[in-house]
Amino acid sequence: MTFMLTCPICGRRELHEFLCGGQERGPRPPQEGLSAEAHFRYAQFRSIPPAPQPEWWYHGQGCGVWFKATRNPATNREERPGG
Ligand SMILES: [Zn+2]
Repeated sequence: MTFMLTCPICGRRELHEFLCGGQERGPRPPQEGLSAEAHFRYAQFRSIPPAPQPEWWYHGQGCGVWFKATRNPATNREERPGG
């Protein structure tokens, strides 16, 4: 079974056309007063819960657009509104 992803410009395409940019993690912590440990934790630690999560994807073999898609790590399937 091939993992498919939906580019907002090109539509559904096979995964090999994309590069994953990692989890969407929200805003960066403030630069001022951030301890080295807090920065390390922000930059290096990831939690991957077995639930749908937003991720950054790049359509490198297509239109060259970065976009967010929601993938469920438990099923490795894209979750889209309305199915
Ligand atoms: Zn595209």
